[in-house]
Amino acid sequence: MKVAIVTGASRGIGSAIASALAKEGYNLVLNYRNSREELEALANTLTTETILVQGDVSNFKEAENIINTAKSTFGQIDLLVNNAGITKDNLILRMSEADFDAVQNINLKGTFNCTKHVSRIMLKQRFGKIINISSIVGITGNAGQSNYAASKAGIIGFTKSIARELASRNITVNAIAPGFIQTKMSEAISEEAKQASLANIPLGKFGRPEDVADVVAFLASDKANYITGQVIQVDGGMAI
Ligand code: NAP
Repeated sequence: MKVAIVTGASRGIGSAIASALAKEGYNLVLNYRNSREELEALANTLTTETILVQGDVSNFKEAENIINTAKSTFGQIDLLVNNAGITKDNLILRMSEADFDAVQNINLKGTFNCTKHVSRIMLKQRFGKIINISSIVGITGNAGQSNYAASKAGIIGFTKSIARELASRNITVNAIAPGFIQTKMSEAISEEAKQASLANIPLGKFGRPEDVADVVAFLASDKANYITGQVIQVDGGMAI
């Protein structure tokens, strides 16, 4: 049975990814930082073997523990989905150094940490897939999100570089750039800003976590074996 690790799986997009992968038959290693109860509730709905691993992806050692626990429990790792992420929005004049650093450390360095540790295992296996959750604001930029947009643009450069490094060992590395997806993260946005975003979405509706999860399931499948180093926008046309 195939084995997938999903970081930040306790709610939103991560939890939809976990459900989609379970439906595809993956045994799962689901990571959370604080929200264990939410993740336990999700795990109870899944029909494949699932373990929950606490850890802050921005911490190099804790990220290593997530990856090593997956390997020691299931013996192989077919897929890593770097999904954990946060926002700490503000205009540049009001943005603190701590808020800039926190967003880079979780979104970008967390992706590096987990990828670095899983690479060693996937290189030995001579197979694997890595999917990084970026954002369309990493492509377009967004006023009030310079820290977040920088971290998500960083993930795109990182994805393309690692795709080149690992390709010869049958490992694909791709990114997904979601637009506006309805989750706890996007709930924080003001009603006015939500309506402004909606006006810019050609398909005329916000995305659902399942819209992103379905693309993860496709990129993880054998149908996507010849795709690497790509950024797939799942944004209803927001950034055409
Ligand atoms: P969300 O509802 O806030 O969920 C974020 C998840 O990440 C939670 O499970 C959270 O768990 C986990 N997490 C946060 N910091 C972590 C850390 N240091 N270590 C491990 N887990 C951590 O957000 P979402 O909307 O589902 O977002 C998921 C991903 O999609 C993020 O990378 C986000 O940037 C990206 N994205 C979202 C949208 C959108 O519109 N929603 C658009 C583009 C991209 P804890 O509560 O346990 O910390």
